[in-house]
Amino acid sequence: MSRGERPVVLISGGGPVGLTLAALLDAAPLDLAIHVVEPREQPRWRADETDLRVYALSRSSQRILERAGAWPSIAARRVCRYEGMHVWEGDDPDGTASIRFDCADVGEPDLGHIVEDVLLRDALLARLAASSRVRIAAGCAVESVAVQPDAAVVTLSDGASVRASLVVAADGGESPVRAMLDLPVVSRSYRQSAIVAHVASERAHAHVARQRFLRGGPLALLPLADGRSSVVWSLPTDDAERRLRLDDTELVAALEAASGGVLGRLGPVSARARFPLQILHALRYCCSRGVLVGDAAHVAHPLAGQGMNLGLADAACLAAEIDAALRAGLDPGELRVLRRYERRRKAENVNMLVALDALHHLFGLPAAAAPVRAAGLALTDAAGPVKQWLMRRALGLHLDCEATRGGGRLAAT
Ligand SMILES: Cc1cc2nc3c(=O)[nH]c(=O)nc-3n(C[C@H](O)[C@H](O)[C@H](O)COP(=O)(O)OP(=O)(O)OC[C@H]3O[C@@H](n4cnc5c(N)ncnc54)[C@H](O)[C@@H]3O)c2cc1C
Repeated sequence: MSRGERPVVLISGGGPVGLTLAALLDAAPLDLAIHVVEPREQPRWRADETDLRVYALSRSSQRILERAGAWPSIAARRVCRYEGMHVWEGDDPDGTASIRFDCADVGEPDLGHIVEDVLLRDALLARLAASSRVRIAAGCAVESVAVQPDAAVVTLSDGASVRASLVVAADGGESPVRAMLDLPVVSRSYRQSAIVAHVASERAHAHVARQRFLRGGPLALLPLADGRSSVVWSLPTDDAERRLRLDDTELVAALEAASGGVLGRLGPVSARARFPLQILHALRYCCSRGVLVGDAAHVAHPLAGQGMNLGLADAACLAAEIDAALRAGLDPGELRVLRRYERRRKAENVNMLVALDALHHLFGLPAAAAPVRAAGLALTDAAGPVKQWLMRRALGLHLDCEATRGGGRLAAT
């Protein structure tokens, strides 16, 4: 960055994490230009249709979206709070191999909200449309990044070239910009796919997020505002493909059996989608002039619905570090600035990825291991402090305040 030049932060990927980062940077009183590059046309939210893609967002993510200026518009349109979680294995949802979490246990009004992907994007885009510092290049992708000592020169598919202090890869698990920055990853396919659909039920969901562990993978039923539940059913890939081909009646019957009748009779079921599942982690989150956030840095198994929560915490932490760097008179694309972000986020992300991977393997073990799992669940349920510790993590209440509220400190040296 040359002296006197207004720094540019270029964000590749107008997904929820990239847009949240743009909104957080815009909310800070910084002399900064923010460019967001997104190849897809962004779909508009519709009041008469619930997006198939929904996220269980923690209270910590809600706080981040409040700071980003998007939460009021999200909450005013359509969200469903969840007040409890119920996890079990085996035939009896209330048997010994089960655990329940309630917001009252941690003195909170809820455990989080189920929010549609399209609504999250729509609210963030509406918030950014009002800004003179944010430019959104829709229908456009990053073609190349050339890292120079004082800037990254980014070429876009529309022929434009942008000289940026910092390039942020927020372009998802397959992140093309991560490859352009030469940041290596380790990854492994779970050989599973998640089937996603919405289903109506005989019994009310009562604002409880439910998950049953089955041999092939977990089945989650997340409460929706219209009274239906969002199904996220992880299955071995060929099994998932087979079930996707079932007609509605057959799929509903399969879901009733898999859910153990916890919500009574099910149906009708909506259209469905399938997502291949993998674990992925970048060995480094940054290089000079380049940094990774969200799924570009880490992809987790969706069994505890944490990927988006981790990505939003990345966005909050990076925004705080950029803010601190600029206030200290530093260049936000300098490696020492980006390393601070990496140090603060990597441990949290790795811990979550490893914990979810361990759970995936634990519940994939043969039936002979079921008593051990049941004992673990029963012990956790009975041990108040352990349960509270788990809940505080799920809510994101354990997160370092700086990561979620901003205000990092960095001295110019
Ligand atoms: C079935 C399932 C259920 C899940 N449920 C939950 C949940 O309940 N809670 C939770 O916290 N997480 C959940 N997750 C995880 C969550 O979906 C991801 O962690 C989250 O979407 C990551 O957001 P992101 O913005 O980093 O990436 P994405 O949402 O993948 O967005 C990336 C953006 O980059 C764009 N892009 C792609 N290529 C380019 C390019 N060349 N140039 C520029 N832009 C590009 C894409 O179009 C997209 O808009 C779930 C995941 C799955 C698979």
